[in-house]
Amino acid sequence: MIKVCSLFSGSSGNCIYISYNDTALLIDAGVSGRRIEKALSDIGESFDKIAGIFITHEHSDHISGAGVLSRRYQLPVYANAPTWKAIGSSIGKIKSDKICEINPGEEICIGDMGINSFLIPHDAACPVGYNIFIKDKKISIATDIGHMDAELLSKLENSDMVLLESNHDTEMLKCGRYPWPLKQRILGEKGHLCNDMAGKVVAHLATKGTKQFLLGHLSQENNFPELAYETVSNALLEKQINPLKDVYLEVALRDRVSKVLCV
Ligand SMILES: [Zn+2]
Ligand SMILES: [Zn+2]
Repeated sequence: MIKVCSLFSGSSGNCIYISYNDTALLIDAGVSGRRIEKALSDIGESFDKIAGIFITHEHSDHISGAGVLSRRYQLPVYANAPTWKAIGSSIGKIKSDKICEINPGEEICIGDMGINSFLIPHDAACPVGYNIFIKDKKISIATDIGHMDAELLSKLENSDMVLLESNHDTEMLKCGRYPWPLKQRILGEKGHLCNDMAGKVVAHLATKGTKQFLLGHLSQENNFPELAYETVSNALLEKQINPLKDVYLEVALRDRVSKVLCV
């Protein structure tokens, strides 16, 4: 059985657990090692099965626990070359044989999982999202997205489960207390995806057959879980898709594990 769980999601830290039989991996490790250990035990899992950590980009909310966990559990950490360069020494020393360089678009296999990264528009060195292929199933993880375009959308299509960013409500952000340059950064082409766009993307993917959605990487300042959920629900309803019956939709929270989804 394929299990997917968001352990942490948001601008304060991200970590996603994916397992299939005896193999598991983490996408990002952006909170402390201790908190990730605790979250894993909360869902009845441990590090025994974890074969590696896949990094999306070098921002601290995606990497802060990766060094500790790699050292503690001898875990390989996977990231592309520009991301490794940008990480530098920020997560402490990692053994050279645990530093694994991957290239966007190149599939690597761990157990029965095929893992492929794809480029996303975000203000980092070489940010990526991930497709994980297991048997005939496809799981997609895409957060920290400045804007959606046809190519990125095509990477998410035909997924069985998608974790998509629903970062902010545009009006809350515009009227909020963030300084203007930061607002511009978030709203920009390489910033973060708003609730409205997340709704459009989820509705599109649902019409193409995706059944399970987690909305993630919510802003603490410029969003509410209920607002993200409502906005995306309304976009689904506009396409005659019932968010309570036809699909599974949940907001992944910053400080609580999501439901463990079976894909
Ligand atoms: Zn982030
Ligand atoms: Zn980021």
